[in-house]
Parts: sequence; structure tokens; C-alpha cells
Amino acid sequence: MTAPLTAGRRPALTAPLLEVDRLTKVFTTGSRRSGEPVRAVDDVSFDVARGEIFGLLGESGSGKSTLARCLLRLIAPTSGSVRFDGVDVLDLPEAAMRKLRARMQILFQDPYSSLDPRMTVREIVGEPLTAHTATSRRDREQRADDLLTLVGLDPTAGRRRPHAFSGGQRQRIALARALILDPDLVVLDEPVSALDVSVQAQIINLLRETRRRLSLTYVVVLHDLAIARYLCDRVAVMQRGRFVEIGAAADVLESPRHPYTRQLLDALPGRGRREALHGRAPGVAGPIADARGELREVVPDRWVRE
Ligand code: ADP
Ligand code: MG
Repeated sequence: MTAPLTAGRRPALTAPLLEVDRLTKVFTTGSRRSGEPVRAVDDVSFDVARGEIFGLLGESGSGKSTLARCLLRLIAPTSGSVRFDGVDVLDLPEAAMRKLRARMQILFQDPYSSLDPRMTVREIVGEPLTAHTATSRRDREQRADDLLTLVGLDPTAGRRRPHAFSGGQRQRIALARALILDPDLVVLDEPVSALDVSVQAQIINLLRETRRRLSLTYVVVLHDLAIARYLCDRVAVMQRGRFVEIGAAADVLESPRHPYTRQLLDALPGRGRREALHGRAPGVAGPIADARGELREVVPDRWVRE
């Protein structure tokens, strides 16, 4: 029950869709003025079950986006492994990887820059079909219209261009595009951070509904812990590239065990300073707990670094 979380020893789940083992990404050039390497993702292990919504939480600069991109091999990790449906993603030759990519999609934060302004919404949503399968234009359009309906847009929306839509509607369009190849996994990097609060709830509910209707698995980067509590089945809390806590969202966010998680919760709006979640520069030492020690399974499926 208290064995350290090392290779091959992960939170036990049946038939996980995603198995991440000791994943590490070191940037040797870039943001640090000192020129020192940055361990953006540092020895991270976890599994994600089929149909699960798994949240990655942590302040800005903690490594969430880097981890999300490594899962899909959009960034090449320095070491460790990622298995998707039993296939070693990092070892896969490029052609096989292209095929697998259809089953793993990503959705970014900014619905304004992710959609090509020159294309119609129908073309945007249907485009992945041209790259991955041989479909007629008519079938593509029909399928795009179906997806637009699924995400709550009027199918006539397909004839317009993205600038005609609000941020929330654009995120619906981006989701329709991410879903058109019928993926198993969608990674979402702060999908609602750029949206008005009133619109956030609609998109979050859409994620829940699409997960249920399409049996999807979502890995979602969030910095709003209230949203994480509502949306996610399990969450991992990340600090400076390392997981400090993993468990059921209700457990972790209602009775946090790691001081860093408590610190994040204290920074929730209405409970203290919100800027702790947003503004701190990457790499600056946090005021309290460090991500030292070993991740241990303190109760079944509840891992805490101590
Ligand atoms: P988060 O998504 O949690 O805000 P990131 O994954 O974007 O965190 O960044 C984690 C750390 O890695 C930060 O210190 C960041 O400056 C660094 N980093 C991210 N991308 C690069 C890159 N391409 N080159 C160098 N350093 C990077
Ligand atoms: Mg990020």
C-alpha cells in the first residue's frame, strides 16, 4: 500500500487506455535566462481508464501543457514511455503514428487562433477526414453537419466562417473537428480559460455530455479547481514537473493531503489570492511545500508525495 511509485507501479485500474510511465521532458534551451535545463515534466507516471475524465492541475509553468503534448508525441519526451491502447506511442514509426493520431486528438485553449479564418466552418470541421480517410465531399459535409449538431450548433453554421462566431461557439467548432475522426482520447489544454465565465459552464457540460454519448476519454488541463471538481473523475496535481497528488477529484479537492494542493485551493476566488493560480513566473520557488519525497499510495488509488 505504501510502495513508492516507480516503473511498473502505478495506480491500479482495469484496462487503461493510457499508461504513462516515468515520463520526463527536459528543455535544454529556452526560457531560463541562466541557460540551465528545465525539467518541465519530471518522472511522471499515471494511467487513464477508458471513459475517464482525468484532470491535470497546477499553477502556470508547472508542466501541464508539456505533459499534454508529450502524451500525443507533439513534443518528444526525453525519457519514459506512453502506451495508448497497449501501443508504445514513443516507439512508433511515423506512418503508424499518423494513423494512431486519428484516435488521439487535442483541443487548445484559444478558440480564436486555432481555426483557419479563410475556411468555412464545414471545411474546418471536415478537414481531418481528408487527411485520414478517403471520403467524398458530400459525405464529409454531411458528417461535418452531424458533428456541428452534436456540439449544439445549427448545421447552417457550417456555411459561415469562424469570425462570425463567439468564443464559446468557436470552442464548439474546435470540438466538432476534434471528434470527427471518432477518436478514443481527446487531450484538452485549458479548454475554457479564454471564455467568459457564463460560457465556461456550457462548454464543460458539453464535454460531459460528449464523453457519455461517445464513450470518450478526456485528459484535460485545468487551472480552475472548481471546474475540475465538477468535470473530472480523477485529478493529478502538478508542481514543477512532478505529480504531488493523484486521486479521485472529490477526494483530492475536498480533502487535499499535499500542502501544495491546499495552497492551490486557498487561492480559489473568494478564498484568498487568485493570482497564485495564474501569475507566478515559471521556475520561481513557491512559498511552501516542495515536490520532494516519493509518491505513495496512502489509501487505495490515492497517491501523495511525502
Ligand atoms: P504549464 O502548461 O503548466 O503552464 P508548461 O508546460 O507550459 O507549463 O511549461 C513548463 C516549464 O517548461 C516552464 O518552465 C516553461 O518555461 C518550460 N517550457 C515550456 N516549453 C518550453 C520550450 N519549448 N522550451 C523551453 N522551455 C519550455
Ligand atoms: Mg499550459
